[in-house]
Amino acid sequence: MHIIDVFGGEKLPVSFEIFPPKGDLPVEEAREVIGGLAPLSPSFVSVTYSAGGSGNSSRTIDVAKMAQDEYGLNMMAHLTCMNADRAGIDSVLASMKAAGIENVLALRGDAVPGATPKDFKFAKDLIPVAREAGFCVGAAAYPEGHIDCLDFDESIRHLKEKQDAGAQFFVTQLFFDNDVALQFLDAARKAGITVPITFGIMPFLSKAQIQRMVFMCGASLPSPIIKLLARYEDDPKALRQAGIDYACQQFVGLSKEGVDGLHVYTMNRPDIAQAAVQALRDAGAIA
Ligand code: FAD
Repeated sequence: MHIIDVFGGEKLPVSFEIFPPKGDLPVEEAREVIGGLAPLSPSFVSVTYSAGGSGNSSRTIDVAKMAQDEYGLNMMAHLTCMNADRAGIDSVLASMKAAGIENVLALRGDAVPGATPKDFKFAKDLIPVAREAGFCVGAAAYPEGHIDCLDFDESIRHLKEKQDAGAQFFVTQLFFDNDVALQFLDAARKAGITVPITFGIMPFLSKAQIQRMVFMCGASLPSPIIKLLARYEDDPKALRQAGIDYACQQFVGLSKEGVDGLHVYTMNRPDIAQAAVQALRDAGAIA
């Protein structure tokens, strides 16, 4: 099913992100994660893509195919282009199509040190290629601007370019402050971005993890989180629970704002997706 069709109905779309098993672990390892997520009936599940080597696209595809064929999930494969040439991208898209995948999240990805971009400089260069190949295509959005882009308005302009290039919906980067996300939504709509925007949230589970996340994507840390980090500094279990509870509050808060969709960065932990879905059910946001 094309993901664009899950938006705009009565039901609030709730989706999940997973990643393929790390390193040389067999793809079968993903079965436990997928099996834990399937009963939650997500609107779609996306699988990340590692641009590091030729073997990696097949792992994304294999996981997506398994989840689609054996668990009946609606899947989206991520695809990065910065270190790829056109022939390589065409070949990956052909493999995705052969696997029955209909949805692609078109991304630039991060540069491999020392490599120069080949046929694709930005995600907007990949989007029309994936559309022409027949996929339903989403792209990434950054509520606080992309980390390399210091000017928020410029970041919004680049987002609009992705819509103009054919992106049919956006999935956002994580953020910890719903007000920031809603201001971004307002700015995006004012800039003529009309496609659905689904908001991605990742719970913090430890101080080290949140530090990594913040420096990786430039998300701002609101004071309630800093207080939680201080309060549970010596109690990792309580901090983890506080992080999941905080993310659930974010989901519920956004659901009341009439957003287009919610996307859970599960980190391959079905319990996180379960907590988010339960919180949304308890709040009456989903059935
Ligand atoms: P782009 O939209 O191309 O933007 C990249 C940078 O270029 C930005 O700073 C932008 O402002 C700037 N830019 C864009 N257009 C122009 C222009 N015309 N002129 C000048 N500057 C411009 N990475 C992975 O490797 N694998 C994944 O599976 C993956 N999944 C992700 C999922 C989501 C939902 C998100 C939000 C990110 C994901 N990423 C993933 C990370 C992503 O690859 C990085 O954030 C990457 O640095 C940017 O990708 P992009 O597609 O947003 O790039």
